[in-house]
Amino acid sequence: MILDSPNDAAPPDATPSAASSPDATSTAASSPDVTSTAAPLPSGLDGRLKALYQRQRRLMNLHLDLLYACDLDCHHCYLDEKKRPQASTATIIDILEQAAEMGALQVLFSGGEIFLRKDLFIILEAARRLRFHIRLKTHGGNITGHDARRLRELGVAQVDFSVYALDPAVHDGFTQKRGSLERTLRGIDLLVAEGLRVEVKCSVTTQNLAHYRELNEHFGKRGIPCTLSSKIRGTNSITTNTYDLNADFEDKVEVELYRIAQAGGPRTPGPAPAPTESHFCSAGRTMIYVSPDLEVYPCVAYPRPVGDLSVQSLAEVWRGDATLADVRAATRADTHLPATSAPPMVGICGTCPARSHCSYCPGSAYIESAGDALIPPAVVCAAAFAKLEAVTRWEQGERPAPEHVAAVKTKRGLFPIAVNLGVLRPAGPSAHGAEHAGGCSCG
Ligand code: SF4
Ligand code: SF4
Repeated sequence: MILDSPNDAAPPDATPSAASSPDATSTAASSPDVTSTAAPLPSGLDGRLKALYQRQRRLMNLHLDLLYACDLDCHHCYLDEKKRPQASTATIIDILEQAAEMGALQVLFSGGEIFLRKDLFIILEAARRLRFHIRLKTHGGNITGHDARRLRELGVAQVDFSVYALDPAVHDGFTQKRGSLERTLRGIDLLVAEGLRVEVKCSVTTQNLAHYRELNEHFGKRGIPCTLSSKIRGTNSITTNTYDLNADFEDKVEVELYRIAQAGGPRTPGPAPAPTESHFCSAGRTMIYVSPDLEVYPCVAYPRPVGDLSVQSLAEVWRGDATLADVRAATRADTHLPATSAPPMVGICGTCPARSHCSYCPGSAYIESAGDALIPPAVVCAAAFAKLEAVTRWEQGERPAPEHVAAVKTKRGLFPIAVNLGVLRPAGPSAHGAEHAGGCSCG
């Protein structure tokens, strides 16, 4: 059970780097992710709380990026405006107090690299005083033994790290900072030694296909959850410059086969709600994201402005304008192909054969279509159809290859839904359950 699962029916997967990429970004779940993504509450409690907060339309999860600056430069980072200004200590504490007043339960602090902020522990002390469930995302390379002790004393519930390979040449090549792997592993060790819950997020890209299994098994042996995601999303300045890092479709299928094998078999999703009842995720509904310069968005991965805390209170933003109402109301019944398509296939996500394996991400859609959150994004469709394909092959007896050897690039690396429907086998609703099992990692 996870407190911060953004998707309504299942967890997501892509959490960009722990420090700055959401998916592989933000928290929820879907495909049989190898692990859950947040510190667990007592069984069933988080789901019940989330349902209650949804019914009452209340803010449950606040995600604050404390800064965009980072001392790494990961290839897939979605924060491509790192020089944006950052709010003062007093302003951040004021936002925390407003969120607590509204009844929010969880705060996620990320960046950028949060340990570059000199006032980090002042902010964490305030969050502790306000009794938040606290989660952090960091690359961890600047954490000291003293920091680790303070995090334990402050009751931080979970710290997420991004690791891309155990081979320094691969990890450091990806972060573009020599020595970054060694420093991150040291940070993980320090927190583990203090008994803190740590989770590793690994974005599987074209650059670490030969390495993610070793990584997953290394942390698995240490009892550290490791989440793999092969969905690399676009950037927050509405570009898809990062898409080239997405592995080929056949590679995504192989990753999914591996994940299924690790989980001991495919998971069976529950019954699907009607498309008109199937909201996408928690973005803007029980969760809100505040950027370092006080702009407010439904989610870190959904760069559609819904407020500005430099001129509004958090409660005023949460009460919402037409944009936030639109974000909250959207369901799978509203999805459609681009206007240029004939027919536009309104409601396509409600009947899609990969729905059981899909974590529809309105943020990815908004970026990929430059402003329309209802057009199924190719990056999400590719992930969902790869999961469907992997489950189908698994049930036919196929198992992951002993080693992942990168596939020869095909034309189906990322592809629009219409191509998916024409190329891949549809799965009947009885084959894999009926509800989407996607998952993001937003928080
Ligand atoms: S917009 Fe929704 S699905 Fe996408 S990353 Fe955020 S919470 Fe997850
Ligand atoms: S795979 Fe694509 S078309 Fe199918 S439900 Fe997901 S986003 Fe919609």
